[in-house]
Amino acid sequence: MPRFYNFSAGPATLPEAVLQQAKEELVDWQGAGMSIMEMSHRGKEFMSVAEQAEKDLRELLNIPDNYKVLFLQGGASSQFSMVPINLLRGKTKADYFNTGLWSKKAIAEAKRFGEVNLVTDSEPNKFTTVANESEWQLSSDAAYVHYTPNETINGLEMHTLPNVGDVPLVADMSSNILSRPIDVSKFGLIYAGAQKNIGPAGLTIVIVREDLIGNALPNMPVMADYQTHVKADSMYNTPPTYGWYLAGLVFKWLKDLGGLSAIATINQRKAEKLYAAIDGSNFYANPVDLQYRSWMNVPFTLANADLDKTFVAEAKEAGLVTLAGHRSVGGMRASIYNAMPEAGIDALIQFMQDFEQRKG
Ligand SMILES: *Cc1c(COP(=O)(O)O)cnc(C)c1O
Repeated sequence: MPRFYNFSAGPATLPEAVLQQAKEELVDWQGAGMSIMEMSHRGKEFMSVAEQAEKDLRELLNIPDNYKVLFLQGGASSQFSMVPINLLRGKTKADYFNTGLWSKKAIAEAKRFGEVNLVTDSEPNKFTTVANESEWQLSSDAAYVHYTPNETINGLEMHTLPNVGDVPLVADMSSNILSRPIDVSKFGLIYAGAQKNIGPAGLTIVIVREDLIGNALPNMPVMADYQTHVKADSMYNTPPTYGWYLAGLVFKWLKDLGGLSAIATINQRKAEKLYAAIDGSNFYANPVDLQYRSWMNVPFTLANADLDKTFVAEAKEAGLVTLAGHRSVGGMRASIYNAMPEAGIDALIQFMQDFEQRKG
């Protein structure tokens, strides 16, 4: 039985080669006589795995030396509060883009710690586009600017960096980190839950510029202070060791593939194919402004929503799973992260065309 093509938004499909290697090493990691999961995180075997993973991530993203890389837990959702706790640094206000449902959650959490100014609000257009830069309302006294470059639920991606001047730019890259090269030096902080483009759920990556660390709000939990994790090399408490190891395998897989420029070319081609199939039919539709269509998450609706359940069921028969859309958007959503092979996109398009012919 071959594996399904799994279009889940997260936890999402992983490269099969990575899973195979993990399987081979599961019971006895490289002659250590035990699995990675059973080792001390402070032993030399795991330390070497941890260090190599960070080194490979730094190489992939070309992370400058004045940035720390943290391997944490708590998901991107914990960063919704850790960002204001650490980055307000004596100020009282932060700027937020509201471009989708994940932005909204980050904003709601930030409001518990300070004032939030909306740079722009895409809610009135149902998160299908972003206003032009000329209409943005950046405040002069913001401690930082937060945005979500890829809105996983709405399929809305900002393909260019917002220009925010000298104010630290913070990005929730949970669903598009490692999908293309980025200039890390343009950011104050980047965070991402692992379960979309990095590895299994349970690991959260934070990349933070050194000068932003060490000014957390008073009386906060010690675990909420980036300084705690920086000082302890992400081992203040027991880190998610297996997730860290698996992320390391994914980083190696990406490097072997040719790094982020290579994967970007593939990702763009995969997305363009799928959007072309949607736009080329009168049966499928995607509501997102062409300029802001996500390379990673492609929501689409059927001309007749009564056919949604049949579509999902028949797709599953064809080996294409987890295509039902998010409840807030409806229809379908194909998440096509780095690990989704191009053959999976081809199979989906083939199925969509066949379904349309029979039912459209
Ligand atoms: C999935 C996701 C989150 C939530 O991540 P958790 O790790 O479950 O907290 C936040 N932001 C974005 C953009 C996401 O895609």
